Amino acid sequence: MSDFVFAPSATPSLAIAGTTQRFAVRRIWCVGRNYAAHARELGNDEREPPFFFSKQPDMLVPGGGDIAYPVLTQNLHYEGELVVALKGGGQDVPPEKAAGLIFGYAAGIDMTRRDLQKRMQEKGKPWEIGKSFEQSAPVGTITPSSRVMDAGAIRLSVNGEVRQNSDLSNMIWSVAEIIARLSQQVSLATGDIIFTGTPEGVGAVVRGDRLRVEIEGLAPLDVTIA
Ligand code: MN
Repeated sequence: MSDFVFAPSATPSLAIAGTTQRFAVRRIWCVGRNYAAHARELGNDEREPPFFFSKQPDMLVPGGGDIAYPVLTQNLHYEGELVVALKGGGQDVPPEKAAGLIFGYAAGIDMTRRDLQKRMQEKGKPWEIGKSFEQSAPVGTITPSSRVMDAGAIRLSVNGEVRQNSDLSNMIWSVAEIIARLSQQVSLATGDIIFTGTPEGVGAVVRGDRLRVEIEGLAPLDVTIA
């Protein structure tokens, strides 16, 4: 018999290419402003060091599909991103040890309530309300890989029209550096996933829009705003 007063919530998880086993997600971290051209389009200094924010694991939308247009916003944005999934962790991981923690990669969308994010930013308040909400983290199937993925096309299209078109080599901070930096702030562990930032070309979506993220070598992710 369990000691829980009610049944614990189900563990959020992601599909893994080539197996029926699933990747149990522990924490969801995101990097802000990791592509210079995107930092510029939002009016920020591109030389600023990376910073991190989080989404709750139950905000994950495994495999994409239909998501509801969220409450409180009139300006819902997509941010197509490479997501790295960890098979190990630690504190103060040096960049050269980071590759040893990588389980694999997936395509993801950091859904953003841009109006709320901007409003809070202007007031110097935390912009969590703009980033952390129901179904704000669609992530596709994980492709296992132990290498540091630092090049390859990344593309997001809306209704078949390409809106974001860049290359992972344009990331200001590499996957290894992101893992190293984040591990200075928190202790990373198996099951953590990290959104690595979005290239330029972010924009608003409306109900009915179909989003597709394609990253070279990974399974595409399809999301429809229902
Ligand atoms: Mn983002």
